[in-house]
Amino acid sequence: MKLKTTLLATAIASLAFAVQAEELNLYSARHYQTDEALYSNFTKQTGIKINRIEGKEDELLERIKNEGSNSPADIFLTVDAARLAKAHELGLFTPISSKVLESRIPTHLHTDDWYSFSTRARVIIYNKSSVKAEDVQNYADLANPKLKGKFCSRSGSHPYNLSLMASVIAHDGEAKAEEWAKGMVANFARAPKGGDTDQIKAVSAGECGVALSNTYYVARLLRSTKVEELKMMEKVGVVWPNQATTGTHINVSGGGVLKTAPNKAAAIKFMEYLASDEAQRYFADGNNEWPAVESVKVANPALDALGKFKADTLPVKNLAMYQTKAQMIFDRAGFK
Ligand code: FE
Repeated sequence: MKLKTTLLATAIASLAFAVQAEELNLYSARHYQTDEALYSNFTKQTGIKINRIEGKEDELLERIKNEGSNSPADIFLTVDAARLAKAHELGLFTPISSKVLESRIPTHLHTDDWYSFSTRARVIIYNKSSVKAEDVQNYADLANPKLKGKFCSRSGSHPYNLSLMASVIAHDGEAKAEEWAKGMVANFARAPKGGDTDQIKAVSAGECGVALSNTYYVARLLRSTKVEELKMMEKVGVVWPNQATTGTHINVSGGGVLKTAPNKAAAIKFMEYLASDEAQRYFADGNNEWPAVESVKVANPALDALGKFKADTLPVKNLAMYQTKAQMIFDRAGFK
């Protein structure tokens, strides 16, 4: 009888442990419509329940940092190599060993401790009546005195611009990168402000002649159901920069398993799930991005409308490596 009771107690305890272990705490800066299916399908496949904490990218990073070793977070998902690099710098991620991730995610799209699950490109937007397409074919052209008083930008401290600058440092070296930054500052139509969509609007309105934007903002506007936004897009042209040289700068959204993760095994399972064909489609489509896994095909009319292009294959490791230098260069150039 006593043995039976002990066995029963052990069984209950291990059952409780099993139930408790089948959870995953996801800190995510993503909140798109297709994410519901993304998460519920994982739970259906694995029985692992996902507890989601959603927030702004930088706030979530702060939160994980402040929670320290008590953090319940298993995975941190965010956008831009700059932010993923920051999480790495803070020592928040742990390297994971996964044959699935190694084989599915291209080498240039992951580091030792974080993986990209989708890609976005940084393109040049120009006003068709005030700027000629042939004058804005390369990122370097943004520094050409020809564009004096025409260039608009969001802040030089923003991750999207920092990562682009990091790619320029990686390709051309610091000295050239600084010349480029100074040239852009000399071409400002106004002091940097707003987000990518604000730059597109200002270009369309003629306040600026040229600006930079991530592709998903362009895709969103091209696919808009609002007549005024479609009209706005008629006035702007989109250029894939650096097609004759390094290719258009690519950034990513992705994530990593946290060093303090209480549910490490479940976290690795979820990372592997994100690299699956099905999850890749949801993940990329949710924000008009491209899947990181090359064999996955998506049918996204907004992206198709942008056409094909040559992408820069610079490893995301290099983008991460030059973040601090990128900020120093923008600061020295007065690119606020
Ligand atoms: Fe964005």
